[in-house]
Amino acid sequence: MAHSIFDLFKVGVGPSSSHTVGPMIAGNRFVNQLQQQQLISQTTKVTVNLYGSLALTGKGHATDNASILGLMGEVPDTIDADNIDTMLNMVRNSNELPLAGKHWIHFTESEHLLFNFTEFLPQHPNGMKISAYDSNDQLILEQTYFSVGGGFVVDATELDNPPQLSVALPYPFDNAKQLLAHCKNHELSICELMLLNEQALGTSDIDGKINHLWQVMSACIERGIATTGILPGGLKLKRRANQMHLRLLDGDPSDQFDTLDWVNLYAMAVNEENAAGGRVVTAPTNGAAGVIPAVLAWYLKFKCKDQAKGITEFIATAAAIGLLYKKNASISAAEVGCQGEIGVACSMAAGALAAVMGGTPEQVENAAEIGMEHNLGLTCDPINGLVQVPCIERNTMGAIKAINASRLALQSDGVHHVHLDEVIATMYQTGLDMMSKYKETSQGGLAINVIAC
Ligand code: SF4
Repeated sequence: MAHSIFDLFKVGVGPSSSHTVGPMIAGNRFVNQLQQQQLISQTTKVTVNLYGSLALTGKGHATDNASILGLMGEVPDTIDADNIDTMLNMVRNSNELPLAGKHWIHFTESEHLLFNFTEFLPQHPNGMKISAYDSNDQLILEQTYFSVGGGFVVDATELDNPPQLSVALPYPFDNAKQLLAHCKNHELSICELMLLNEQALGTSDIDGKINHLWQVMSACIERGIATTGILPGGLKLKRRANQMHLRLLDGDPSDQFDTLDWVNLYAMAVNEENAAGGRVVTAPTNGAAGVIPAVLAWYLKFKCKDQAKGITEFIATAAAIGLLYKKNASISAAEVGCQGEIGVACSMAAGALAAVMGGTPEQVENAAEIGMEHNLGLTCDPINGLVQVPCIERNTMGAIKAINASRLALQSDGVHHVHLDEVIATMYQTGLDMMSKYKETSQGGLAINVIAC
């Protein structure tokens, strides 16, 4: 179960948190277990089976690459993103894979990494099974993992019995009502409450770690703006952030919509980097990784007077809102559609912006609620299974909607008809009711109505 700011925000690589970050972590967990049980030296074969959504959109979401890299001992937050192609080419050209980076086994991708397109594991739509064999072809270790969204990975036991927190939080909350009650009773902002809880979790240098997240987001924006060319994957989609930036620099300063274009630019830059497999912050997923950096970058450029304070308050408040979705609904598009990605990121950014603009906790809750209310029913239908169309533009929409949601909330007194807990429950119910073809399978919506060339 997630409790920390750093559970919601993690440094990773694109293009997908559930389909890239998760499977890489699963592969790494598996080879770590092989090592812990001293089985690695007798391992001569490893197979990876991908099921459900992991299989159906796995090619476009680089699940195959991520699984291989995880077996090589790589993890998303430290992998050298510029070296990924070299590592994969080495395995593919030689049919040899260094398990955990040191024990070489024969590995032929077409035989050992299998996409089970028609089979869903009953427990979760994002399932994968990894199996290790010895030289007699005897099974020596097998694990089933589920990538449950946002880069969270659990095995079958953890899925049924999530590990419980071993420390007592000063301000535990399971829903927005409890969160607001703590804020009211103890005269705390949502950010202050989150930081006190984070201290109780034993996290050191919280400000430094939050600032690091922003530095990674900011570097991602800069790389996205600086890079031109065609995105990988076959859609031949041209990167647009670079040209947008040049047009903005040359533009008419009296254009009142200029500031919106900066938001669009930041979101697009991040998600073009994500689509290219670059370094991003999962926020709370990779497909939606542009929304929060775009709104935060816009705030820092146009509104903020104290950058350090603004960054901490923005990220900590956004995390509190994200935790509510993680606890009570889902941030996995395979479970609830794009509501769980762009919708949640929009809600987090809306609440966070309301907070840094001086909103009360009630106004923050209102902004977060509005941010989700108008994303309800949003399906996931990426063309060719790539995190490109509609994903990249959809981040710009999520960011703009978040700003509008926070403005609506800041103009109210915090009293409103629909509460965040109710909209979270509605989002989850809507997601469960959504047909599976609209949940990260590329079997419906734009994915089948647009001919990809
Ligand atoms: S449509 Fe939304 S949920 Fe689906 S891959 Fe794109 S950003 Fe993620």
